[in-house]
Amino acid sequence: MMKLKLLTLGLIATATTAFAADFPIKDKPVTIVVPFTAGGPTDRVARDLAEAIRAPLGATAVVIENAAGAGSSIGSNKVAKANPDGHTLLLNHIGMATMPSLLRTMPFKVETDFEYLGLINEVPMTLVGKPTLPANNYKELTAWINANKGKINLGNAGTGSASHLCGLLFQSALQVDMTTIPYKGTAPAMNDLLGGQIDLMCDQTTNTTGQIEAKKIKAYAVTTTKRLTTPSLKDLPTLAESGVKDFQVAIWHGLYAPKGTPADVLTKINAALKTAMKDPGFIKKQEGLGAVIVTDKRLEPAEHKKYVASEIAKWSPIIKAAGVYAD
Ligand code: ASP
Repeated sequence: MMKLKLLTLGLIATATTAFAADFPIKDKPVTIVVPFTAGGPTDRVARDLAEAIRAPLGATAVVIENAAGAGSSIGSNKVAKANPDGHTLLLNHIGMATMPSLLRTMPFKVETDFEYLGLINEVPMTLVGKPTLPANNYKELTAWINANKGKINLGNAGTGSASHLCGLLFQSALQVDMTTIPYKGTAPAMNDLLGGQIDLMCDQTTNTTGQIEAKKIKAYAVTTTKRLTTPSLKDLPTLAESGVKDFQVAIWHGLYAPKGTPADVLTKINAALKTAMKDPGFIKKQEGLGAVIVTDKRLEPAEHKKYVASEIAKWSPIIKAAGVYAD
């Protein structure tokens, strides 16, 4: 009996070891699930990363799957429930820390349903407006907002998204209600901003910089505490210096695997992530759009997890105090 038990344990150990050593399985792509639409800022980070991480991972291909909707909870839930073999990963942003406070019902647990693989970058947000908006700077924007109360449309990437959070905090700070128009990502919201169907939006610089540089949209402020250094954005004031006291929203992106992914598979992915993030092409593309690549200890899974927990603790009282529940 004892012998049989040991034999069984031995078989399980061998199977697990072989499984991990085989990762990534030849000819099976690694899928990075992006919980927002294609062409938006989260998608931009994932596509740049997919290119940089494929070789260090030794994968045949790294493909992006856009599973958008419900402020990133649909795609995140999909990965939480996926086969934990390292072939399905999630790239999500600050929503991992704000969804638990913004959504009343969460289909998964951020703290316990994922393996943390490392933080990737930090990206500021910008407050931008449709091209025909008469206001040309933040002061003029506040005058326009006050003159148009009740008529203003504010786009976002859905309940619980970063643009949603930023927009809610902005309305709360100004004590002005705007009509919120939710999309499955800020890529389609940007199209409607360009077309004038929505008036305003908060969005990551990775989605707004090109449009600001081409002068296709109006830019009013950045949501960080310091002004940005990107040449085309450096003259934008911060919301805090414009009088919106203590306003600060900076977005970060991280990589996750389903809970239960074997430890040595996780180690392999984390090592590949660290190599990818030193890739000059990846750095150049991301920094050109205002993103700052993470080089500190948050690249370590345990520190990434601690950071997300600290962000959950940070945002929960802010969201509660602002009375900005989403549903
Ligand atoms: N910018 C979106 C957000 O506000 C995410 C996206 O569309 O990638 O959360």
